[in-house]
Amino acid sequence: MGLQAEPERTCVACRGRAPRRELLRLAGSAAGVVVDPAGREPGRGAYLHRDPACVEAAFRKGSLARALKRGLTPEEAARLRIHIGRELG
Ligand SMILES: [Zn+2]
Repeated sequence: MGLQAEPERTCVACRGRAPRRELLRLAGSAAGVVVDPAGREPGRGAYLHRDPACVEAAFRKGSLARALKRGLTPEEAARLRIHIGRELG
């Protein structure tokens, strides 16, 4: 009996895997896209490393919108990036 493996998720930007608690979850629904550090928001989830390079790539390459299966208006993207920036400190 080993330790229970921690659930892993894939960063949508770099496709690297990491324990879920090390990644930042974003949740997308018809109502919008929110930063979901607690991982409780309903909707389709997308995970990102808490790394500005991954955040930048996720927006620049469109991988975030693809993972959420939802387009982002420039206004939504700008607002989301501010919220993510706050979360990363
Ligand atoms: Zn990453």
